[in-house]
Amino acid sequence: MLEQPQLSVVIPVFNEEASLPVLFARLYPALDALGLRYEVIFINDGSRDRSAALLREQWERRPDTTRVVLFNANYGQHPAIVAGFEHCRGERVVTMDADLQNPPEEIGKLLAAMDAGHDYVGGVRRAREDSWFRRLASKAMNRLRERITRIRMTDQGCMLRAYSREIVAAVAASREVSTFIPALAYTFASNPAEVDVAHAGRAAGKSHYPLYKLIRLNFDLITGFSLVPLQLFSMFGMFVSAAALATYIGVIGYRLYFVDWHDAAAVFWDRDILAFFLVGMLLFGLGLIGEYVGRIYHQVRARPRYMIRAVLERPAEEPVER
Ligand code: UDP
Ligand code: MG
Repeated sequence: MLEQPQLSVVIPVFNEEASLPVLFARLYPALDALGLRYEVIFINDGSRDRSAALLREQWERRPDTTRVVLFNANYGQHPAIVAGFEHCRGERVVTMDADLQNPPEEIGKLLAAMDAGHDYVGGVRRAREDSWFRRLASKAMNRLRERITRIRMTDQGCMLRAYSREIVAAVAASREVSTFIPALAYTFASNPAEVDVAHAGRAAGKSHYPLYKLIRLNFDLITGFSLVPLQLFSMFGMFVSAAALATYIGVIGYRLYFVDWHDAAAVFWDRDILAFFLVGMLLFGLGLIGEYVGRIYHQVRARPRYMIRAVLERPAEEPVER
């Protein structure tokens, strides 16, 4: 039997042909230096460039420590990580990006925190190398999540994180369709911790998260872990109704006593403004409800979260020469 690795490194890969050679050249020496039995699991998330071929070459070079899961199409970063969780065997599991924005040399720091007894270690990017827009949006979303969920993490977007085997098993067993792994894993952690990690600009290529995908991801994060948006909306609805009632009483009283300077004050209950406002709120509320209904719809269809074309790995019986 193959000895259980002490560390699995899970890396989702989508169109990263330019970064992969640099990643291989830095990741493996960094892991060798740790002096652990490790494995690296790459999940090719339906790349349309040469990524799959490069991963196969790397598997042929280092079959003892490399495993590759090949999706048949693009299912997204988080489903790819779930597949990595389902296939990895390590006692501890570290996730990171393929673009070297998370320096592989920092993995030791996460493991040191696990040695200290933590079962979940999140990285915090101190000097973040991203556009000001991404940094600003992250800050706002972090703050919102902090308020409306019970998930406490300083830097939700940082993918350099370490998880215990128990947490990884729990995430893999969750049948959630659209989810945000660092947050889901956090809900299973008994003793989470955070450490500062370095951050770099992309090694090559550009981000796969345009604005639309970022918004989708954050919707998953908020609606996946909190019912507060739904409840806030109902409360707001009650507030609007109460305010409308008060306005009616006010207007009736006004017309009874002072008959005419209502030209100026009329603006306040201008029907067009009111209609715009209320229609806006209605659409917003509908959309919000739709978001939850959509999640339920996804969930009840219970489709597989991804399809695997092939897994490149050594058969488990083969002895390891070290
Ligand atoms: N990724 C993926 N599937 C996708 C999009 C991204 O597996 O549909 C991978 C990508 O290859 C990288 C990681 O997820 O390893 C983070 O993506 P990216 O660097 O584009 O995101 P950013 O750093 O801009 O948040
Ligand atoms: Mg990146």
